[in-house]
Amino acid sequence: MSAVRPTHWSMSQFPVIDNCLHIGGMPLTQLAARIGQTPFYAYDRRLLDERVTLLRSRLPSAIELHYAVKANPMPAVVQHLAGLVDGLDVASLGELSVALDTGMDPAEISFAGPGKRLPELTAAIAAGITINLESAGELENVARLGHALGRQPRVAVRVNPDFELKASGMKMSGGPKPFGVDAEQVPTLLRRIGQLDLNFRGFHIFSGSQNLRAEALIDAHDRTFELALRLAADAPAPVRMLNIGGGFGIPYFPGDTPLDLEPVAANLNHWLPKVKEELPEAHVVLELGRYLVGEAGIYVAEVIDRKVSRGHTFLVTNGGLHHHLAASGNFGQVVRKNYPVVVGNRVVGDEREVVSVVGPLCTPLDILADRMELAKAGVGDLIVVFQSGAYGLTASPARFLSHPACVEVLV
Ligand SMILES: *Cc1c(COP(=O)(O)O)cnc(C)c1O
Repeated sequence: MSAVRPTHWSMSQFPVIDNCLHIGGMPLTQLAARIGQTPFYAYDRRLLDERVTLLRSRLPSAIELHYAVKANPMPAVVQHLAGLVDGLDVASLGELSVALDTGMDPAEISFAGPGKRLPELTAAIAAGITINLESAGELENVARLGHALGRQPRVAVRVNPDFELKASGMKMSGGPKPFGVDAEQVPTLLRRIGQLDLNFRGFHIFSGSQNLRAEALIDAHDRTFELALRLAADAPAPVRMLNIGGGFGIPYFPGDTPLDLEPVAANLNHWLPKVKEELPEAHVVLELGRYLVGEAGIYVAEVIDRKVSRGHTFLVTNGGLHHHLAASGNFGQVVRKNYPVVVGNRVVGDEREVVSVVGPLCTPLDILADRMELAKAGVGDLIVVFQSGAYGLTASPARFLSHPACVEVLV
């Protein structure tokens, strides 16, 4: 007997009415007409609201939620989320400017990322946001620029922990890393912060991304709190901010199941009294990107050609890896797997067939779905890639092959 092939988690966040996917309260075909072009990304504000509500209802109320803008920096999305979350985390001057445009209190914006350029540091100090320091060299630059500007920079130390997030899609910590200051070097850095004219805020400890296993997140949180409490002993001022990272994943591939928030929340509840006791001024921050926006977005491309090559049917679309690198399997995946894909205007279909959906680029990497069973589709049909609200357009090589630009809408 052959093993049961794993399937995609059901994408029930978008209703299907009369066999057509609906988003933002309208049929996909109507939305495509309204936008006036394919391909496009569409993000659903109702789903953004629901996701934040879910987190607020499950997590301890003392946990502050930040949005990591790099997951989806579309200004309308960031603006919408700014009204729902407690803070924004940015990773470049461009993201900082989008974040400041929302009207979010600069005290609730932080800036992480290696290799911050001097104009970026200057802008961050002038704006009054918190700079998550990534190295000793950056610390000296920040102090010097603050002095020149006549403003005391707000700084936190981004720590490269001495552990890593197990089963994480993308490891961001443990061992030698370009991110953060090695935990063992942090005490020296803290002493130096105390010698300079800086407003010390606390710690930022981010250990990984795209985790679907509660036990792994719990393990990371345990070690993060232990590490933060240990490092706080050398802090030059009370810890006011403890950013414990994010790492909450969403189901992309066959066999993936959603993260169970309950045990993660229970563990945070277990830690918070101890943190309150030892670091009474600390706000505990969870910074989430993908988990907030990923499931709220779809990518839509139109079938331009249908061809059969040696018995294998290809749907050739006007969209592909130049807009959606991650769905093509080339954004950090080791083994290519299909994102959940449907024919949006014919979700179930009377006839179904196994096809590959490809883009227009002259490279065999330009695949949106590899041998997937879909409703039988032809020219003009709309291919939908779910779970596309995070690391989509801005994580893709848009200029590769000089095709027309993709557009984005928030509905
Ligand atoms: C990318 C990033 C995030 C967001 O990660 P997600 O997996 O999208 O939640 C959060 N914090 C930092 C420092 C990051 O670099």
